Amino acid sequence: MKKRACFEDPKDEGENYYQEMFASGKLGKSLDNHFEQETRATPGAISTSVSKRQRVEAEARAESRIHAPKTPPYGPKNPPLPVTGLALLFASTSSPRWYPDGNIILRVNDTLFRLHHSRLARYCQYFPQELIRPSESSAHGHQEMVDGCPVFTISTLDVKDLEVFLTYLESPVQLATNPPSQAIASSILRASHVLKSPLFTSVVIRALESLWPSQYSPDTPTIRRPWTDALDAITLAHEHRLPQLIKPAFSTLLRSYTFWDTLKHDRARIPLPEADLLRLYHARRAMERAWRLLVLAPPPAECCAPERAALTGMACKVEGTARAGEWCAFWIERGYVEQGAHDPWRNVTAMKVVCADLRATWCWWCLEERMQAWDAALLEWWDKLDDWLGIKRIL
Ligand SMILES: [Zn+2]
Repeated sequence: MKKRACFEDPKDEGENYYQEMFASGKLGKSLDNHFEQETRATPGAISTSVSKRQRVEAEARAESRIHAPKTPPYGPKNPPLPVTGLALLFASTSSPRWYPDGNIILRVNDTLFRLHHSRLARYCQYFPQELIRPSESSAHGHQEMVDGCPVFTISTLDVKDLEVFLTYLESPVQLATNPPSQAIASSILRASHVLKSPLFTSVVIRALESLWPSQYSPDTPTIRRPWTDALDAITLAHEHRLPQLIKPAFSTLLRSYTFWDTLKHDRARIPLPEADLLRLYHARRAMERAWRLLVLAPPPAECCAPERAALTGMACKVEGTARAGEWCAFWIERGYVEQGAHDPWRNVTAMKVVCADLRATWCWWCLEERMQAWDAALLEWWDKLDDWLGIKRIL
């Protein structure tokens, strides 16, 4: 069993008394009985007893306020609430990271962690290189103690984020051998930001960059990432100044049917400010326009290789002014002009497959000319996304 909190602050005799009560098990059984006993044993001390009780209740209320909802994206964090030593009595010590030989206590919201200072200090600048010992602490009278270990209260950190961070702090090689998921990387980034760990920050940023590559390639994984991950990545990018994630994450939203459908029917599920949504609307209009121009652009007015095509017996069947009309009619009838506009990057691949149906009318060289133009457009559109989304104005 883990030991519970004990207090060594000589300035507060009341807390020392609670420490003894707690060690005897009386305080944990019934706080109300404790107050009643104190009142009976000390005639005239009713006001003192009530005062202590009010203090406990006030601290309990303060504890509950710590669990207020998180601030909206990009918004300021809630200011940390003051936590006194007495509140530690009621703090949970249910964290699995309570090492008997630990020499430092981290208090995050209502959870205590007993950890090893040397490991924390090696990777986190938040912690001093020299740990203040209990005797030195008492002399200074500032440091709160639990089980003879100094307590560091961190109000700006989430318990779950810290637990994830500690998992990798104890086994950093996991980050190298098994790249973390976005959720894991986000937790580590938030914790390493608070604890000031440059090494972990740089490692998980590289992991996030591999999940959201800023360079386009036909096999870019961004098109397969869930749109909800893109929302999280955008929030993370704003909070931790990671501009390199903005473009790939926005492009995933831009091309996601589910995102636009959710935005239409359930705006509350999209935690993006109106300015970001306007960027997406603007980019979507520009992207759809570019797509339609590309799909409806026919092969050259004259066949690209009439002699070679004639030799193979597969010459273009349409010539002159009829070529543009024939080309546009094909794609309009197939529905590609409108339906494909939602995700041009993906639908260019689909168009190449459909080209097989065009070989009866167009020669191999004319179709190849178009397919090369489509591939070039994919790269061109990726570059234009910065303008379409107003990326430079975001950063
Ligand atoms: Zn041709």
